[in-house]
Order: sequence, then structure tokens, then C-alpha cells
Amino acid sequence: MGTVMNTYARFPLTLVRGKGSRVWDDNGNEYLDFISGIAVNTLGHAHPQLTAALSEQAGTMLHCSNLFHIPKQQQLADKLTALSGLGAVFFCNSGAEANEAAIKLVRKYFHDMDSSRRSVITATRSFHGRLLSTLTATGQEKVKVGFDPLPAGFLHVPLNDIEALKQAVNEQTAAVLLEPLQGEGGVNIAEVAYLRSVRALCDELGLLLILDEVQTGIGRCGSMFAFEQAGIVPDILTLAKGLGGGVAIGAMLATDTVSASFGPGTHGSTFGGNPLACTAALTVLDVIKSAGLLSNVQQRGKQLSLGLQDLACRFPVIRQVRGQGLLIGAELNVEVAPLIAAARDKGLLILMAGPNVLRFLPPLNISAEDVDEALTIVGSVLESTLEAGE
Ligand SMILES: *Cc1c(COP(=O)(O)O)cnc(C)c1O
Repeated sequence: MGTVMNTYARFPLTLVRGKGSRVWDDNGNEYLDFISGIAVNTLGHAHPQLTAALSEQAGTMLHCSNLFHIPKQQQLADKLTALSGLGAVFFCNSGAEANEAAIKLVRKYFHDMDSSRRSVITATRSFHGRLLSTLTATGQEKVKVGFDPLPAGFLHVPLNDIEALKQAVNEQTAAVLLEPLQGEGGVNIAEVAYLRSVRALCDELGLLLILDEVQTGIGRCGSMFAFEQAGIVPDILTLAKGLGGGVAIGAMLATDTVSASFGPGTHGSTFGGNPLACTAALTVLDVIKSAGLLSNVQQRGKQLSLGLQDLACRFPVIRQVRGQGLLIGAELNVEVAPLIAAARDKGLLILMAGPNVLRFLPPLNISAEDVDEALTIVGSVLESTLEAGE
């Protein structure tokens, strides 16, 4: 039998089909999906408009490489630059690749200015991907163990501590790389005042601000990009997870000035921005707009976090509920793995963000009824788990 390398501790569940916010396993059991393929299935499963657009594109052209102009890629570039306020985009296939592209662009930008600035400061508990560059950028020791030698030029500071950042900046510093809301690292919010201070510091010192919105972007936090809620604009922005609604695509956007350092031959991707992936992303952006999904994210996000806060009053084991839009974390006094297993047995799929945090990532078009159902299941799981513990 062929072995798939054992890099994931998988749930004991085989999913074979989905529709909207529901998925089914190979025994026909139904689950409410509050994982969305880790913040990927923006429109839920088998969305008719996405399915139709992909079928049509698959019958026209899947791939032709970036040796040629690609109309759908140009359309997507127009959309993403208009939405973000940044001038140019590079397309790739994943979040880690988008961050790798950002790091390369930063280095090349300062190289082109005859500056020796090369290093990137990131936050502790951050997550930026599994490539050698991006796991080094990641502010968590566990992803680095065994992979040395790691590339030079990365430094970590605690999130929301502007003084620590100021202390860490030196003549080698080129950029600050942050998630506006840390997903994998525990659903930790970068405070608005902090983000604004970081923006101001970067402006003052001529450093670049990279925001990793691989998880927070494309409506997940209730605005197209989470940075909008802080009233700042980054120099470089990375996107992936929710952008293709389930089709692999990543994007790295930058200002015109910065992106000028990526000329022919400096960077590339065979698959990046292929017609199929760009069709998926264009459809996701269309549906977010036409179905009013940003306001749905805001309303359902409020409903979910208020509901979890109610549960926190009933069950003090919930220490804190935090997040933005439909990226919500509930930090518990206990390990969450048994609760996740119990919720699964009751038909709800939820994820963790570190050992003590439950993470809720429903599709952006989740209904009020589905949110209520999820809350009911979480409540009953807490009840039975606590009883069992007594
Ligand atoms: C998931 C994630 C990544 C890595 O994305 P991949 O597509 O798995 O490479 C990078 N940054 C953040 C913030 C993420 O959540």
C-alpha cells in the first residue's frame, strides 16, 4: 500500500463529499463544517457558481504557464490591486510561497537601493508557512526543530509590544512581517494601536511593512482585508487560503515602488496564477460582493462570539473568546483536543489553534441557523465533558 508521509496527525475521519456548510464521511455521516479546510472553503462546499465557473474554465484552458499573457490573471490583478490599494501582484500557489516571495522582494528591494538592510522582524507565536524561509520567519520553535541550518536574517519580538520592536530594529532591519490576527498561533489579535505604531515606525525608518493575510484576508475578518480595520495599508500583502475557495492560489501584492524590484528572471512559478486558479479567485471575489458576504461575516461573527461568550458565563472553563469576523478563538483552561473529538462525534468539525484554543472557521456564507446549531453542540460538549470530569 502506498504510504502518504505522516506529516499530519489526522482526525479519524474520511470526508468524501460536501455541500454548503455540510460535509459527509465515507459512512454517510453528516457534519457541520466549522473548519472550512482551514479557512479555505470561503463559499462552503460545491458552491454552484464556483463549480460552474471552474467547469467552464476546465473545458477551455487549465494551464498555459506564465510565458504567456493570461486574461483571467490580468482581471484578478485588476481586482486585487483595486481592493487592496497596492499596485502590483505576483501569483503563486500557497501561503508559504506568497511569504517567500515577499521576503525575496524585500531583500531585492534593498539590494537595488545599495542598502545592506536584509533582515525581517516577525512576532512570537506567528505562523508564516513551512518553507525554510517561512518556518524561520515563524515565531514558534516547534516548526524549526531538525531543519537547521536555517537561513539568516530573521528575528522575533513579542506581539503588541512596540518598545520591544523599537529595541530590535537595527541597521540590518529591512521589514516587519505580521499577521493582523494570528491564526495558527492561538487567534491572537494585533491591537489597532500597535499596528498603527508599527506602520509609523516603518515609515519613519524606511522599513517595509509586510502583512501576512493568508488566513485573515478575503473577507474572513469581516472586511476584505483585516488591515482595513486598523486604518493602515502595508507595503506588501500576502494572501492564499480563502482566495481560491478551495483551489490552490497564493498572491503577494506590493506597492509599485517596491514591486519594481521584481523584473524578468528574479522570481517565478510554473503554476502560479494559472487560468483555473484565477477563475476560482475571481468567482470567490464576485460572490463575496454579490451575496453581501462581508456583512454576513460581521453578523454571523457577532452571533458566534456572543454565543461563545454566553457559554463562557455558563462554563468558566472558557477563559476568553476573541477574534474578528469568522476567525474566532475560545481559549480554555484545559486542553481542547478531547472537546474537538466530542464535537466531531456530535456532528461538528472545529479546529484548534495551539493546545488550549478552539478555533472556529465556518464558510463566509454560513447561516444564522448553522451558527446556532454549532453553539448548541459546543454547549452540550462542554456540559458532558465537565460532567465526565467531575
Ligand atoms: C496557513 C498559513 C500560511 C501558510 O500557508 P500554506 O498555504 O499552508 O503554505 C502562512 N501564513 C498564515 C498566516 C497562515 O495561516
